[in-house]
Amino acid sequence: MSLIFDKSVENRKNIIFPKCDVEINLPDSPKRVKAAKLPEVSEIDISRHYTYLSKRVHGVNSGFYPLGSCTMKYNPKISEQLASLEGFTKIHPLQPKETTIGCEEVIERLKNYLCKITGMDEMSLQPAAGAHGELTGMLLIKAYHMHRGDDNRKEIIVPDSAHGTNPASAVMAGFDIINIKSNENGMIDIDDLKENIGEKTAGLMLTNPNTLGIFDTNILEITNLVHEAGGLCYYDGANLNAIMGRARPGDMGFDVTHLNLHKTFSTPHGGGGPGSGPCGCKTFLKDYLPDTSNEKSIGRVIGYYGNFLVIVKALTYIITIGTEGIKNASENAVLNANYMKAKLDNILPTAYKGMCMHEFVVSLEKLKNNTGVTALDFSKALLDYNIHPPTMYFPMTVHEALMIEPTETESKETLDEAIDIIKEIYNTALDDSDAIKNSPISTPVGRLDEVYAARKAVLRHEFEA
Ligand SMILES: *Cc1c(COP(=O)(O)O)cnc(C)c1O
Repeated sequence: MSLIFDKSVENRKNIIFPKCDVEINLPDSPKRVKAAKLPEVSEIDISRHYTYLSKRVHGVNSGFYPLGSCTMKYNPKISEQLASLEGFTKIHPLQPKETTIGCEEVIERLKNYLCKITGMDEMSLQPAAGAHGELTGMLLIKAYHMHRGDDNRKEIIVPDSAHGTNPASAVMAGFDIINIKSNENGMIDIDDLKENIGEKTAGLMLTNPNTLGIFDTNILEITNLVHEAGGLCYYDGANLNAIMGRARPGDMGFDVTHLNLHKTFSTPHGGGGPGSGPCGCKTFLKDYLPDTSNEKSIGRVIGYYGNFLVIVKALTYIITIGTEGIKNASENAVLNANYMKAKLDNILPTAYKGMCMHEFVVSLEKLKNNTGVTALDFSKALLDYNIHPPTMYFPMTVHEALMIEPTETESKETLDEAIDIIKEIYNTALDDSDAIKNSPISTPVGRLDEVYAARKAVLRHEFEA
């Protein structure tokens, strides 16, 4: 398809701006030398261009989207409606406080609910994403040890089944990573943990349920061991829809946690976002939080109040579904995942047996050995059936992995349809593996050279000289 720049026709306009009613006195230095090369198109051209583009992509509103660990669930329209009220959209962070009391109440109420849901005592809504919340939490742990003069604690223990951002955030905060193994049940190997814990341990960073969708039942013993060694415990709560309303990180012995509002609390991801990754902690750490004026504070991690409209949407979600709804959401997330897992078990077995939480990881290793069809091929074939592929090749501990997370918002009918499609692709792989290897055939583009695209990314339009 052609780019918006290709559709440009000189002097074609779409909006007539009103005359500027303030006097502008700028020095020359920040002024443009040449006019910006913006596409010159009419309003209908631009509307059609982007509507067409939007139809070429797959979103939560176009079909099933079981992208493991990403929690691609439905974002209710009522949240969008409330977040677009003028009282929320037309405020300025520097306007007098007495004019923004309602907005402050939104912030305080959400903090309160999130503390109740996680079992934490304080919460900062500043972090703008999950990984940003992790970094904030890691900085709290670092500040805590530093202020006690315990500055030898440089190590963060991270299990091999953690989300990839966990070790990355700990390294960004200046820690060294100590990796520990999973046992045959996909949980932390306690002996390996004991061997690696000690005077240098600053803390443990745990995703529970982990990326295999497995809840570590030894959690109390684990957090106890870390505390006895003088370390703190960090809980990655991005996927709290596995346990919310049922269990709380604060009760499992965790001192710090982050949440992903753009997963668990049903606010949009990425382009529809922006995100929000609140960071909560127990009382003894509250002076280190980014939004206190305390001298121990790690300092702000974002300008002003964080992504405020996301906060409005998350609060709307919580109030709309209420206490029972919070419990039901996590129950349905776990039920849906286990339903799919059980129905697929005879063709796509999971690496670890037993119940899963909100997601499960299947291995296509056997299928690959028999037919040559890989997890990547299988994922591409799903696109021809209007299903977004699951997360692939993660966690690395499972070969030919597909991580499936149906989420709580899908109906049994949608799950049954997806199960039938997966079975059909599986059978086709056995009969005619080339058909799968050549998919997708119905999408705007087929197989792309992903390595080339990543290495030679073209991210801006080059105008002809
Ligand atoms: C998504 C996710 C993150 C990171 O969240 P971002 O908003 O993408 O930075 C961290 N941990 C887990 C378990 C996640 O699923």
